[in-house]
Amino acid sequence: MKLRFAPSPTGLLHVGNARAALANWLHARRHGGTFLLRLDDTDLERSKPEFAVAIEEDLRWMGLDWDGRVAQSERLDRYATAAEKLKASGRLYPCFETEEELAYKRERRRREGKPPLYDREALKMTPDQIERALANGKQPYWRFKLAPRSVSWLDLVLGPRSVKLTAISDPVLIRADGSPLYTFTSVVDDLEMDVTHVIRGEDHVTNTGIQLDIYEALGGNPKHLTFGHLPLLTDDDGGALSKRLGSISLRHLRKDGIEPAALAGYLAALGTSTDPVPGMPAALAPRWDISRVSHATARFDTRQLLALNRRVLHEAPFAELRDRLPEGADEVWWLAVRGNLDLMREARPWFDIVRGTIVPPVQEGEGELLTAALAALPPEPWDGSTWAAWTGPLKEATGRKGKALFLPLRLALTGEDHGPDLATLLPLIGREKAALRLRLSAGA
Ligand code: GLU
Repeated sequence: MKLRFAPSPTGLLHVGNARAALANWLHARRHGGTFLLRLDDTDLERSKPEFAVAIEEDLRWMGLDWDGRVAQSERLDRYATAAEKLKASGRLYPCFETEEELAYKRERRRREGKPPLYDREALKMTPDQIERALANGKQPYWRFKLAPRSVSWLDLVLGPRSVKLTAISDPVLIRADGSPLYTFTSVVDDLEMDVTHVIRGEDHVTNTGIQLDIYEALGGNPKHLTFGHLPLLTDDDGGALSKRLGSISLRHLRKDGIEPAALAGYLAALGTSTDPVPGMPAALAPRWDISRVSHATARFDTRQLLALNRRVLHEAPFAELRDRLPEGADEVWWLAVRGNLDLMREARPWFDIVRGTIVPPVQEGEGELLTAALAALPPEPWDGSTWAAWTGPLKEATGRKGKALFLPLRLALTGEDHGPDLATLLPLIGREKAALRLRLSAGA
């Protein structure tokens, strides 16, 4: 089994690409196959080396690795050889029509009530006419002559599928400047690299019909190739993700503080009826089953992703995250605050609150309460029972209870109106800092 993920380095990896990458990787790892990274970079104008670097970085961040890496720009001679083969068999034919001519012809067909298909006029050119066109300095581009048939396959996700090639215009495979197009290069690579499974977005279904026809024309046996098309993602409101949230790049999510285990766990379960569980790809692979992905479009729900992110942080052992925590962070502190975090970056303020220095707000009108609280602070050593030992008598003495008592204390001790359990935090903050903060917050 051999799979590949084939991004075009014309932009940053977005969640739709990442889902395809993950599905291919999981499928390969689950079945002991090989996974290749293939950069579809034949569009020289739009492909940028910095995007290729970013894509690889983002894939690694999500926990993916690959057994080989190829760039199409390094294989141009292979495509030229394959093109010659198709020319020799008459399946690749030169065309000279300009964009304007084609647009005019399409418009005419539309007026006649016919589908705007290419009419194959170029196929009718005699060798003489072709000679003349070339002699006049015209550069041909090349179309592939689709076979007059339907192409069918059993899709791993969509089930039985079929594409009617007679309803499609012969695709251009080579531009007038000689550069090959993705429709073609992808087939040459899949064939020559012995790719066995192609998992990609549903937007490629028509391509699959075309590409299987090219694959056969190049001598490949279509039985060696299995396809799985992942239904497209929609955003929170059901709109096409590519339009509204297409900009959700992995970079962007990472910067926003999404953990890779949350994203991978979320994407692996997306479109299935199983609840997502956080996990890095290696942990998800044993349970991967592509047949669980439904035919329907899947909703990319940022709230669900965030909920999963919270779970990752709440369950994260100290040792795993140590490098990303503020310097000096210790396990006791981490265990006390992790349950309060949505995103990792929220850890820093809690570090300052517990281990560092903060200036709490002066609470007008609470001076009396806070001064009483200061006077009642028990002597150290402090532990988990200190909070109750301190606030119990304070309730009696001040007649305050519930929020009226705890909110001013919380604000004074942490500077925040919400946060981890104060009984846990208090002994970590310690008597000296607690006393200082009560005094400052009392305005004394
Ligand atoms: N470069 C193509 C894309 O990003 C690859 C599709 C495929 O997997 O064949 O859509």
